[in-house]
Amino acid sequence: MMPELPATSATAPAGVTHAGMVAVVGKPNAGKSTLLNRIVGQKLSITSPKPQSTRTRVVGIHSANGAQMILTDTPGLLEPRYALQKAMRRTALEVLHEADVILYLADASEGAPTPLLEAAAIERPPRAPVVTVLNKIDMIPPSRRDQLDISCPDARRISARTGEGVAQLIDEIASRLPESPFLFPEEEIGTQSLRFFVSELVRETALEQLDEEVPYSVACEVEEFREASRPVYIRAVIYVERESQKGILIGDGGARIRDMGRSARLKIEKLLDAPVYLDLWVKVLANWRRNARSLERFGFTLPQDDRA
Ligand code: GDP
Ligand code: MG
Repeated sequence: MMPELPATSATAPAGVTHAGMVAVVGKPNAGKSTLLNRIVGQKLSITSPKPQSTRTRVVGIHSANGAQMILTDTPGLLEPRYALQKAMRRTALEVLHEADVILYLADASEGAPTPLLEAAAIERPPRAPVVTVLNKIDMIPPSRRDQLDISCPDARRISARTGEGVAQLIDEIASRLPESPFLFPEEEIGTQSLRFFVSELVRETALEQLDEEVPYSVACEVEEFREASRPVYIRAVIYVERESQKGILIGDGGARIRDMGRSARLKIEKLLDAPVYLDLWVKVLANWRRNARSLERFGFTLPQDDRA
C-alpha cells in the first residue's frame, strides 16, 4: 500500500525551496564522473565553490523544481594508499560530514556493495542519509537484476551511461534536501569551478589513454581560460611523474596527444556549449604525488602531520 503523502508535499506554498550538499562517493570506476557529467548535461550550472570551503570540490549544481543540489566529488575515500590518497581521504571525510545527502555509487556488475561505513572504515557515522546506488545497470541481464533485488533491496538502480533511472534519482535526492533558500544563484556560472571541471575532463581523457598503473600519476591544470573569446581559448597542462609517462601520452610523432586534445576538446565544447581551442601540453613534475607543495597546488588538503 502506498503511504499517504503529507498534505504539504502536494500543496507546498510557492517559495519553499530545498537546497544542500550532495557528496558522491564510490570506488574508482564506479561511474561517479559519468553520473556527474550526466547531471551536468541535463541541467546544471557550474559555479564557484563556497569561499569558506575551498577544500570541498563542488563539481556541479543542479537547480530544478525548487530544489538545488550542490554536488561534490570525494576522490580518495575508498583507496587510501599513498600520501596523495591520505590527503584525499581526509578531504573526503570532511565532505561526508558536511553533506546533506551521501550518494554511494557502486558498480552493479560487482554484486551487492559492502556498506559504505564499512568499506570506508568510517568510525563516526555522518548525519546525512546514505543513498546506495547501483550503477551500470545497463550491463546486467534481466535474470541477474532479480538477484540484485534480493541481495540489495534498498539500492537504486541507474545507468549513468544511458541515463536510465537518473531522473528518479535526482527526484529522490531533492526530496531529502533540507528546506533552505538556494545557496547559489540559479544560473550562475563561475569560471573558478568551470576551470576545475575542464581540467577534470582533460584528466579523464588522458586516463582513457593510459593503463591501470599510471592514472594516479596524472594531474591536470588549466593555465589559461579565455571564456569571452571565440573559440574559447583554453591552455591546459597534463602533469605526469616520469619522462616515460610523458612519452606514452605524447605518442609516436605526437599522434596520441593530438587524439587526446581532439577528444577532450569535444567534451569541453559540449560542457561550455561553445567552440573551443584547446592548447594541450604534457609536462613532467617529478614525483609530484609525494610532494606536499604539488599536492596542494592540485587542490589536495594534507593532514597536518603529513605536511613537509
Ligand atoms: P569514476 O572513477 O567513479 O569516476 O568512474 P567513471 O565515471 O570514470 O566510469 C568508469 C568507467 O565506467 C568508464 O569507462 C565509464 O564509461 C563506465 N561507466 C560509467 N557509468 C556506466 C554505466 O552506467 N554503464 C556502463 N556500461 N558503463 C559505465
Ligand atoms: Mg572519476
